[in-house]
Amino acid sequence: MPDWNHTKPLRLPLHPGVSHRASPDVTVEYSFVIPVLDEVDTLPELQRRLVEVMDRLDGPAEVVLIDDGSTDGSFDVMARMNRVDPRFRVVRLSRNFGHQVAISAGLDHARGNAVIIMDADLQDPPEVALELAHRWREGHHVVYAVRDERDGESRFKLSTARGFYRLMNRLSEVEIPLDAGDFRLVDRRVVDVITAMPEHHRYLRGMFAWVGYDQTGVHYVREARHAGATKFPLRRMVNFATDGIISFSVVPLRLALSLGFVVSGLSFLAAVYGVVSKIFGQVVPGWTSIVVVVGLLSGVQLMVLGVIGEYMARISAEVKRRPLYLVRDHLDGGDTVTSARP
Ligand code: UDP
Ligand code: MG
Repeated sequence: MPDWNHTKPLRLPLHPGVSHRASPDVTVEYSFVIPVLDEVDTLPELQRRLVEVMDRLDGPAEVVLIDDGSTDGSFDVMARMNRVDPRFRVVRLSRNFGHQVAISAGLDHARGNAVIIMDADLQDPPEVALELAHRWREGHHVVYAVRDERDGESRFKLSTARGFYRLMNRLSEVEIPLDAGDFRLVDRRVVDVITAMPEHHRYLRGMFAWVGYDQTGVHYVREARHAGATKFPLRRMVNFATDGIISFSVVPLRLALSLGFVVSGLSFLAAVYGVVSKIFGQVVPGWTSIVVVVGLLSGVQLMVLGVIGEYMARISAEVKRRPLYLVRDHLDGGDTVTSARP
């Protein structure tokens, strides 16, 4: 069992097959964790702006780039970045594992006392990290960045995101900050807790909210994507939203129960009505009512089964206890370590 209530930082990633490759003599104050999927046109600009920010931070910094199965040559660009400036470390996953898992891999490999999670597409301006670091120095454990406005995103995405965050907070047992994405600074103490949480369906912003401690937000303007297109089409957004709700709420299951009660109540009333009309001799042919009732009931039953199925699918994924991700290459300090993990 991990020591959840440690007072000193614990440095043990519990994901099977993952180990810190940091040499113990490296001291890093700030780590940027950046998931990358096919961002070849943005990486040079990202590097330029990060170098500027790192030079202005009040402590040594590193960047952990997670290549989440890019196929557009992003890895070669990142390898070059690593050769030019060893502060840029690269962890290449064996395939695309998804945004949340890529961030989790980055958290496992980050060495800093403060870890800044941000996207590679420059929608999260790196300069905001200076403000995040400032608030961290004041003693906060998690400083999340709240989106004031969002440039270059469709009305549809804005309004669905807004509606979703509000729904999520009504349903879930933890209070997740409104309009905050994954862009945030996280203290080492919290990073160690998150990396020790073994769940596979990772809804990180919910997990960070669950952890607690001293959290605060800073506002920023979310910029338009520097280049390329979003990797979250509607289908992936719906999956992500479902993950969020199912990981942090049992309300859908309770809803299924209430729905069951309501429908049973209605059927009981219908039965009473049937008996009464029989007694008073007003028997109707009844075909329509039977079809309607049967149709309604089977619809409700399927829906409830579907809800239960969603939770079951997650349980089955968790009990398999597969590693969260596999690392293919690891570029650290200018040299390549190729890992062959089981
Ligand atoms: N990303 C990733 N794996 C994925 C999808 C996205 O590592 O499966 C990265 C992507 O390169 C970007 C960040 O996650 O740095 C956010 O993705 P994107 O900008 O497409 O999402 P959006 O901002 O449109 O919600
Ligand atoms: Mg983006």
